[in-house]
Amino acid sequence: MVNSTTTVIECKDLHKSFHDLEVLKGVTTTLYEGDVVSVIGPSGCGKTTFLRCLNRLESINKGRLEVMGIDISHAQVTQETLRELRSRVGMVFQHFNLFPHLTVLKNLMLAPMKVLKESESECRERAIHYLEKVGLGEKASFYPEQLSGGQKQRVAIARSLCMKPSVLLFDEPTSALDPELVGEVLSVMKQLAQEGMTMVVVTHEMQFAREVSNKVLFFHQGIIEESGDPQALFTQPKSDRLKSFLSRIG
Ligand code: ADP
Repeated sequence: MVNSTTTVIECKDLHKSFHDLEVLKGVTTTLYEGDVVSVIGPSGCGKTTFLRCLNRLESINKGRLEVMGIDISHAQVTQETLRELRSRVGMVFQHFNLFPHLTVLKNLMLAPMKVLKESESECRERAIHYLEKVGLGEKASFYPEQLSGGQKQRVAIARSLCMKPSVLLFDEPTSALDPELVGEVLSVMKQLAQEGMTMVVVTHEMQFAREVSNKVLFFHQGIIEESGDPQALFTQPKSDRLKSFLSRIG
């Protein structure tokens, strides 16, 4: 699916401030269907803020932002626009954000029933399908606290998939995990990438960025300092800031 020409995310001169602090200072990029994009860069450079703007967890202050053809540039957007956006764009968080009082199965069924208004049986069937896909079919009746961090994150990914999103956003999905649990989450993400899911991933996992993504955005102090194909970007970085970042992370 890589090299599709269908635009999924169009960002032009995006600015975002929190009070006096300007965090995004003119981000411009176009992402296409099937792209697997790694967003990398030093801590505090605006990666997570950028990701949160894409599904309107944050509104932007200036610039143009269209996601799946939905214009979310303006300070105010309607509830209907927001619903439409959230049904197309899934998000996986660092800390999973599962509902602790619901079983794994109910965690997966809740949004499709409430937001997509699908029947219970349809939602159940899809929930089981995606749980099996992430290798957790036998955990349907467990509660989140009975699972390891890696299992919780795989449940969170399955939960996003149950909404049949067109794009999946991942905010440092493995950084809260013990090192031995990182691999199982990355391998689910790799599988999704290979199946053609459009993904934007804020990550510190340079191996994932290098091997799985087809595009890397290197952020530095609120702008995209350098972007492109991972092979070129990692082996022949152009900007001194990227060179220095890569040398620091080894
Ligand atoms: P990164 O993901 O690259 O580490 P972030 O986007 O999380 O960077 O944060 C960029 C800057 O914005 C940081 O200085 C952070 O403290 C600040 N920031 C992020 N979210 C908020 C917020 N809700 N309110 C105020 N400042 C914030």
